Amino acid sequence: MAHKTKRLWKYQPLKSSYDAVIIGGGLHGLATAYFLAKKHGLSNVAVIEKRYIGFGGAGRNTAIVRANQRTQENLPLYREALQLWPVLTKELDFNLMFHNCGNLNLFHSEAAMKAARLNTASGQFHGIKSHLIDAEECKRMVPALDISDRPRYPILGAMYHPPGGIVRHDAVVWGLAKGASKHGAHIHQGTEVTGIEVYKGKVAGVHTDKGKIKTPRVLNAAGAYSADISSRLLGAKLPISVLTIQAMVTQPLKPLLNHVVSSGAYHCYANQTLKGEIATGAHMDPWPNYTNETTAHYIKHQAEALTEFLPCLAGVKFMRIWGGLADMTPDMAPIIDGNEPVEGYYIDCGWGYFGFKSSTVTGKYMARYMAEGRCPEILKPFALSRFKEHRLMGETAALVNYTPDN
Ligand SMILES: Cc1cc2nc3c(=O)[nH]c(=O)nc-3n(C[C@H](O)[C@H](O)[C@H](O)COP(=O)(O)OP(=O)(O)OC[C@H]3O[C@@H](n4cnc5c(N)ncnc54)[C@H](O)[C@@H]3O)c2cc1C
Repeated sequence: MAHKTKRLWKYQPLKSSYDAVIIGGGLHGLATAYFLAKKHGLSNVAVIEKRYIGFGGAGRNTAIVRANQRTQENLPLYREALQLWPVLTKELDFNLMFHNCGNLNLFHSEAAMKAARLNTASGQFHGIKSHLIDAEECKRMVPALDISDRPRYPILGAMYHPPGGIVRHDAVVWGLAKGASKHGAHIHQGTEVTGIEVYKGKVAGVHTDKGKIKTPRVLNAAGAYSADISSRLLGAKLPISVLTIQAMVTQPLKPLLNHVVSSGAYHCYANQTLKGEIATGAHMDPWPNYTNETTAHYIKHQAEALTEFLPCLAGVKFMRIWGGLADMTPDMAPIIDGNEPVEGYYIDCGWGYFGFKSSTVTGKYMARYMAEGRCPEILKPFALSRFKEHRLMGETAALVNYTPDN
């Protein structure tokens, strides 16, 4: 008897009217649709995705989750995000494969160690567990690390963040799509939003390449394309640059890395996947562009950096490399806002390379914002107005001083 596979989400015809339309079938769009339908009873919702769900950063990221961000505004969001993975695994009845292996951020200078002390203390203030360890302790935790004086930047110590780890990114996309669809949301792949209709200062609908939709609420969760959508369709500019990030995996190896290990000085992070591959990535191409192309230069850099602190990887082959886009704001914190520049228009973008770990919690609060019309306290610091009011956040410093760990 032929086995009948159950679809995770239903295919539905595009309706001419929805209570809310979400542009982008990435992590943030799907999470918002799920929470709108499940928690707020707003199930007449459509997620409009121009390619396929997970086409953007959602399906290209390296799946690292952690809560040890830097600023007071960001920490509560990331703390709650980390707590949500096991909850959602149950709620969605879908294994998101949260592997709580902990993150080890290596430091190679006294200055970096000092900055890490500040970060650790800020995190502890918010109940986020991290502590500093010395080089010998790093070696005990990850025996493959070279803690000798040989590397260009010898390891002085690390910040160990036990609650972090890895979550399977595809599983999050599929699980959220399953949950959103189960509670009534429609997911339209292969459909592009081409216009936003405004009537008397309020959102009235969207235009797509498959037809017009009436709606009083639109969420722009289009990742790297969000700034283009805002400026082209509404004339509202967002302070976002788009840059390519590349990542790759090696051939499968026997277990050797049981934590996520990263180094700001080398611009490199690595973890071992369940298949045994070493997944590695970190820095962005230094010029704005919209391509997912990969470069030989990057492969060379990554091989050199990895083998400096994990010399046992010398000679191991890279099997795959891919690129994705990061929507970067000047302070490396996202833009989350509503009713700006017109009523009913919401934005959730500018996540750079932090947008996987934060996706579900942001979806939870964005759904509340869209359903109730009031911005939840936790999202208020991320308003667009901070750029006009010179209230930039210090997340950039977190990267410079401490780690480019995704
Ligand atoms: C190589 C790489 C590694 C990364 N590693 C990590 C990591 O380890 N941890 C972490 O937290 N983050 C990481 N990130 C960042 C993370 O992937 C992104 O921040 C996150 O995916 C953003 O989610 P999103 O839902 O906002 O956007 P996306 O996932 O990019 O989704 C946006 C969607 O909108 C669609 N779209 C665009 N325009 C339109 C339109 N006009 N109509 C309809 N649909 C449209 C796109 O096709 C896309 O599917 C990484 C990113 C990359 C590229």
